[in-house]
Amino acid sequence: MRIAIIGAGIAGLSCALRLQDAGHGVTLFDKGRGAGGRMSTRRVETSAGEAAFDHGAQYLTARDPAFVTAVGEWAAAGVIARWPAAGDDAWVGTPGMNAIVKYLADQADVHWRHRVTAIRRSDAGWHIALSSTDLAPSDLSPTNSLTAGPFDAVVIAVPAEQAAPLLADHNPVMAAEAEACRSSPSWTVMLAFAQPVAIADDIIRHAGIIGWAARNSAKPGRHGPEAWVVQATPDWSTTHLEDSADSVVGRLLTALADHAEEPMPEPIVRAGHRWRYARATAANHGALWNAEARLGAAGDWLLAPRIESAWLSGRMLADRMLGG
Ligand SMILES: Cc1cc2nc3c(=O)[nH]c(=O)nc-3n(C[C@H](O)[C@H](O)[C@H](O)COP(=O)(O)OP(=O)(O)OC[C@H]3O[C@@H](n4cnc5c(N)ncnc54)[C@H](O)[C@@H]3O)c2cc1C
Repeated sequence: MRIAIIGAGIAGLSCALRLQDAGHGVTLFDKGRGAGGRMSTRRVETSAGEAAFDHGAQYLTARDPAFVTAVGEWAAAGVIARWPAAGDDAWVGTPGMNAIVKYLADQADVHWRHRVTAIRRSDAGWHIALSSTDLAPSDLSPTNSLTAGPFDAVVIAVPAEQAAPLLADHNPVMAAEAEACRSSPSWTVMLAFAQPVAIADDIIRHAGIIGWAARNSAKPGRHGPEAWVVQATPDWSTTHLEDSADSVVGRLLTALADHAEEPMPEPIVRAGHRWRYARATAANHGALWNAEARLGAAGDWLLAPRIESAWLSGRMLADRMLGG
């Protein structure tokens, strides 16, 4: 089969690699500039060196035996290391969380900066409508329109809210599943400092409007100036969703300063990121696959809002596709 996968996050990539291993041809399309999805790492040049922030997922745990095996492989490849500060079973990507997705994407055929706007079906198969500023000639159809295909099967591996409109015209049942799933947002603030910050712990959990704060530069394999990632609680993020990034940065910086034993130095990086769809209320199906239409969906929203679950969902979908 020639298979298109929309979304090259951990779910789309775990699905892709399993299908590839079974001998199928897989092409992934992702609107992002590079590997990560919700496991992204942002890097900022500063006068004190490059500051790095894992501004999405903070760490992962592995319980399922298949995922434990995958994590072992990533550890052997040097793209993941234990982070005891977060727990005995906590792992982080090295040198950034996005290293895991990058490692998987390097084994696949991923077209970055390709936003899929619609999927269409013809007698020849599935066609993918794209919007992109830098499409290569090989991405264009014979009519030079922004489409790719035909493909024998399509997998949608994006957050539920973004999956629903793509599914709507083709499978109302799957679209309804995606529509029923709601993700909570997360306002995330990135701060770097040229001097050390006098906060004793590397991690602060559930403290007022802070859901989680971590000294990112203390994770294994990190270099550069002291960097903090501060996430607001889901409730606060929901209430303040449409606030400006500047005002959110100010509020979370003040909340972080409450934990410092000395006045905080002035940040040399201050930035906010609004994750509209951070953590899904999962539908618990594992994955969705319609063998007749050859249309599937995978992602954390089909299992649980965690990296392990997203990876498992992609793999479950691949197994269903291979079985059917
Ligand atoms: C702030 C935050 C903190 C978190 N903390 C943790 C944690 O500590 N531990 C943990 O286990 N999990 C955590 N999570 C959850 C974890 O990040 C996700 O469960 C997991 O990364 C989901 O993977 P995915 O592949 O399903 O989706 P994603 O990572 O969202 O991948 C989907 C991909 O689809 C692409 N895309 C979307 N729409 C389109 C389109 N129309 N066309 C093309 N491409 C498209 C996106 O660019 C993205 O790369 C956190 C998430 C957030 C946001």
